Amino acid sequence: MQNSEFAKLFYEISELLELKNENPFKIRAYQKAARNVEDLSKNLTEIYKSDGLKGLEEIPGIGKNIAEHIEEIIKTGKLKKYESLKKEFPRGLIELTNIPGMGPKTAIKLRKELGIDSVKKLEAAAKAGKINNAANILRGIDLKKRSRGRYLIDDAASHAELIVNELKKIKGIKKILPCGSLRRGQETVGDLDILVVSENPGPVMDAFTRLPYVKNILAKGKTKSSVILKNGMQADLRVVPEKSFGAAAHYFTGCRAHNIHIRQLAQKKGWKVSEYGIFKGKKQIGGETEEDLFEKFGLQYIPPELREMRGEFEAAAKDQIPKLVELKDIKGDLHMHTKATDGANTIAEMAEAAKKLGYEYILITDHTKSTRVAHGLTGKEMLGHLGKIKSIKGIKVLAGVEVDILKDGSLDYPDEILKQFDLVVASIHSNFKMPKEQMTARVIRAFQNKYVNIFSHPTGRLINEREPYQIDLEEILKAAKKYNVAIEVNAHPKRLDLTDIWCKRAKELGVKVVVSTDAHSTDQLQLMKYGILTARRGWLEKKNVLNCLSHDKLLKSLHAK
Ligand SMILES: [Zn+2]
Ligand SMILES: [Zn+2]
Repeated sequence: MQNSEFAKLFYEISELLELKNENPFKIRAYQKAARNVEDLSKNLTEIYKSDGLKGLEEIPGIGKNIAEHIEEIIKTGKLKKYESLKKEFPRGLIELTNIPGMGPKTAIKLRKELGIDSVKKLEAAAKAGKINNAANILRGIDLKKRSRGRYLIDDAASHAELIVNELKKIKGIKKILPCGSLRRGQETVGDLDILVVSENPGPVMDAFTRLPYVKNILAKGKTKSSVILKNGMQADLRVVPEKSFGAAAHYFTGCRAHNIHIRQLAQKKGWKVSEYGIFKGKKQIGGETEEDLFEKFGLQYIPPELREMRGEFEAAAKDQIPKLVELKDIKGDLHMHTKATDGANTIAEMAEAAKKLGYEYILITDHTKSTRVAHGLTGKEMLGHLGKIKSIKGIKVLAGVEVDILKDGSLDYPDEILKQFDLVVASIHSNFKMPKEQMTARVIRAFQNKYVNIFSHPTGRLINEREPYQIDLEEILKAAKKYNVAIEVNAHPKRLDLTDIWCKRAKELGVKVVVSTDAHSTDQLQLMKYGILTARRGWLEKKNVLNCLSHDKLLKSLHAK
């Protein structure tokens, strides 16, 4: 079982306990466990196999009770507590609690008062105006429908990695490449497309369809197979000979519109392009590598993240494909939490972990007092916390804060406190439901504060869970430029906020961007790669991303306010 599946189970238990009106501490314990498990880089089953219950209990947020749950699931494939809890409520009611904007309390109330026990009935009641907040609930239902079958990129990436690691063991495999939207770095992924180069496909097909993560086999052929994985995701495998690798990689990476365009270019030349190569008549004239494929069309190489029909062909024809930012260009992470608020590790632990990633600096940014759910600190507490930030040998630890932008655009701390930080990150954690103009003005007012340097998770969206708040990003970017505020690309796979399209716009407007993880544990520092994918999809180069600068230059650039 994957960590994401354990996490899902714990979230569900917390919701069931809420339906039952259980002790809030108990509910929160499951939520915390779910969050921490979700973002763990090591597999829970492996931890248990090597270190047993003790190993599990060492994970932040996992106590004895939950460690025993994990053990039971690993041993029996089931959890008795969950099964019996589930029996206490009708299925429809449980589904209701998964609709964004609906909590267990509302679900119970609606069931009691209106007999609503399914999403269908909820939708009908909302449309008939029978319930409060109907517009919001309809949006939630719509979001849920749209997100069905879409997996977060880290979830897709970890499943692809499992498959690749298993297939690698087979003799005769020369190359394995996960393609599709995962390779393009899209924020959600529908299914996995795995490409393999081998002159002997039989054993590859056998191994693929027998993987332990496979729930059922949809098709098994000589060179292609499709399966449904245990998490519900579809995975397709394709085996091609070496001479077709480039054309196949290109074909299976997409996007569809990009591929159609390549085929049209081929037609104009009297050629044909398929997953097997570029052909003139029956003769293959190209496509052994992707580089070769683009070259045959007189095009510069187009990185997978740009293959979205957003101007990449025009740029490639003019040799104007940018040299995109890379993970190795990042010199520091500018958004993270510690034990002082809702993080799982100490400042020193975060610094050590960042040092291992080869960073030159980090910025510690704990929450301020208004974010009560995250135990935000008062000004006095924060100054005490700051006193603990000392440079660890080999890495610069900067004192920062994630200060709440209040309803009227003022900040949660007065200037006397804000001026004591190296950098100030500002963000919105409350009063999401505001008209667009008001929200935009609120944020711009915060930008005018001379101590605000970075605007974090600019739209507040949570992918598949929460729509962005209403905000005029065009105006926000222009104001960011005017007041010298950098805009964050939050690298957490649930956020990826700013989005790719807006990254591109920020670049056009000359707005500074930072890519940060918002890590709540040492493990989450590794989420940087997903933010980089989004930045690359937004055509960003090293020079557009401020945390590619050394620490002196970074501070100089942001302090010019
Ligand atoms: Zn935040
Ligand atoms: Zn944060």
